Amino acid sequence: MRPQLVDGHGRDIGDVRISVTDRCNFRCQYCMPAEGLPWLDRKDILTYEEIARVAGLLASMGVHDVRLTGGEPLARRELWKLVEMLSADGNIHDLSLTTNGYLLERQVEQLVRAGLRRVNVSLDALAPDRFFQLTRRNSLQQVLSSLAAAEKYPELRPIKVNVVALKDFTEDEVVAFAEFARKHPYEVRFIEFMPLDGDRNWSRDRVLPNAEVRRLIHAAYPLKDLGRERHGTSRRWEFADGQGSIGFISPVSEPFCGDCNRIRITAEGELRTCLFSMTETDLREPLRNGASDAELEALIRAAVWEKELKHHVNDEGFVQPLRTMSQIGG
Ligand code: SAM
Ligand code: SF4
Repeated sequence: MRPQLVDGHGRDIGDVRISVTDRCNFRCQYCMPAEGLPWLDRKDILTYEEIARVAGLLASMGVHDVRLTGGEPLARRELWKLVEMLSADGNIHDLSLTTNGYLLERQVEQLVRAGLRRVNVSLDALAPDRFFQLTRRNSLQQVLSSLAAAEKYPELRPIKVNVVALKDFTEDEVVAFAEFARKHPYEVRFIEFMPLDGDRNWSRDRVLPNAEVRRLIHAAYPLKDLGRERHGTSRRWEFADGQGSIGFISPVSEPFCGDCNRIRITAEGELRTCLFSMTETDLREPLRNGASDAELEALIRAAVWEKELKHHVNDEGFVQPLRTMSQIGG
């Protein structure tokens, strides 16, 4: 083991989000333009071996939680092979996947067999026409089937469902989502819309603050505060009658930067220390030019030392990063 990876503000880094592709089969309004984005060349994205090397190095520095994301991670061929490589690393304690769910039903068995133990599925609407409006794809039933398929594997827990909340849209289904959370063994979490969309349509008045979502749910099904787990991004509330719980991730209205322990690696191997970073550190070039583990470690430590204290979404003069969420890896 190597010494713990730390930033210059005294935070231990324990979590890495690795994007395996910038491509996606959905076109969510809050993430990607209808026409897609210019995709990276195949040769420019890290190979599974390169990803496993970086993840292994990070894990040996105390970064024990690894989440695979994208773009749509299941759109990359044979993702289970990467899952198998990572789950064989004893320093990786928590290996998870964030997916839009479209391809999950057909891959879930292979993924579980390869060692996947946790999954987050994005689901922003419960009515087919609203799902289409938001994702520009007619795939609600497929996503629900994937959730049902995942549920059959007790190894895969918890199953989390992420709902990005948009003002003047999500309000209509907030109570339906509460009922969905009460009925299924899924941890439903509402996420505030962040300025990382491809259409650059984000504005403060399109954010539906989680306090408002909570108020709407509480009026129908009273809630009790369970607080926020350390390093957990979400604050959980339990239904007062004991039938399930619901979570809220509020990066805009209640930033949790002070406690942030995560870093990100883009599909082409750029290390990012914040979703809103304006700089990044290339790991692909050294990886492909024969850098030793010690050299890579030094590069990573220097970049992470400079991790931002906080994001500036709520400050005057905030500038949206060039990369969208799908190009970073959310
Ligand atoms: N394609 C996969 C999916 O949708 O789950 C993984 C990648 S996606 C970029 C990761 C997460 O980021 C999803 O839960 C998605 O809803 C969320 N997301 C994307 N754009 C966002 C934005 N502008 N604000 C808040 N969350 C966003
Ligand atoms: Fe694709 Fe996920 Fe972005 Fe939707 S949120 S467009 S599914 S990457």
